[in-house]
Amino acid sequence: MNIALIAHDEKKGQIVDLAIAYKEVLEKYKLYATGTTGLRIMEATGLEIHRFNSGPLGGDQQIGALISTGEMDLVIFLRDPLTVQPHEPDVSALIRLCDVHNTPLATNLGTASALLRGLKEGYFDSDPFK
Ligand code: PGA
Repeated sequence: MNIALIAHDEKKGQIVDLAIAYKEVLEKYKLYATGTTGLRIMEATGLEIHRFNSGPLGGDQQIGALISTGEMDLVIFLRDPLTVQPHEPDVSALIRLCDVHNTPLATNLGTASALLRGLKEGYFDSDPFK
């Protein structure tokens, strides 16, 4: 199972806290991230993460490509809804691709935590819509 981790700058603290709290869950899976998010999580947790470009430089699109080929199983994308992003079209495209491919997507800490708890409890193994 492949998991993508992305956070806008104002949310990077939250995604680091999330990764620390769920380290024992995340370390069982193959992790991908945009450049800076991945670096911050690796430094804080020691988790092994494949890092793509930084989001504004195309990292969201690189992750989107894996969603479009069915290679991404879960996306945690902690968006900052209060700050204009220069790469807003890429952000929208990534979210759209998750909806096209029914890829589980969390865009805030509450949903991200619920998804990771579900993963820990094995709920994804019995998904009737897979
Ligand atoms: P970053 O990119 O992890 O390289 O900061 C995230 C984004 O802004 O989409």
